[in-house]
Amino acid sequence: MRTIVLFDLDGTVVTFSGGNPGPGRVSMRRAMRDLVGAEDATAGVRFAGRTDRSIVRAMLASVGFEGDVERAITDGIARYLVHLAEEVVRRPYLPVGDVGGAVEALASSGALVGVGTGNVREGAALKLASAGLLGSFDLALGGYGCDAEERSALLRVGAERCVAAAGGEATVVVVGDTRLDVEAARAIGARVVGVALDAAAREELEAAGAEAIVDACGAALVEAIRAVAAR
Ligand SMILES: [Mg+2]
Repeated sequence: MRTIVLFDLDGTVVTFSGGNPGPGRVSMRRAMRDLVGAEDATAGVRFAGRTDRSIVRAMLASVGFEGDVERAITDGIARYLVHLAEEVVRRPYLPVGDVGGAVEALASSGALVGVGTGNVREGAALKLASAGLLGSFDLALGGYGCDAEERSALLRVGAERCVAAAGGEATVVVVGDTRLDVEAARAIGARVVGVALDAAAREELEAAGAEAIVDACGAALVEAIRAVAAR
């Protein structure tokens, strides 16, 4: 059976230097300042593992926004993309290990590599491009935060796009860095390999029941994906 691998982006494939808040959070904060005038609507809002629309929804709730929420989410994401495009020039994302090598190794062994991320597609492209990874992924084979607000739904879209491209039956392996990646993968019957950049991430992934956990993208990840897919 064919293996489909869906990669989360933030904390899995890309990270940033210079400490928190990262370029994504900074851009969301600026977008909300534009939209509702809040000084820092990101305060106390968890971003990791969530989708762009759900993040903006949570920020609107945190500032007590009372207008047209769906429209504000769309406007907020449009503003976010403007700020993100500027911010990644100042502070580009960085690959988490040998991402390009891992994707190549997976593809050469017959796996179909896609993306499963809460980023809207344009944001995903900006982040990957700034990390020099745009050429490593076929963005047509992916599910994004603009496809669905709920993570499991966007993973399902990503898997379906891969199946449509490859045909036949497939085992889906999700690669992610949070408990929410694991839960969403379970909801679509996928297996999970975790990428843990620190001890806290490893603990969260272990508790959520990821089948395997590695420290970065690279040869160990490729091996873990093959082993998990073969189970
Ligand atoms: Mg992530």
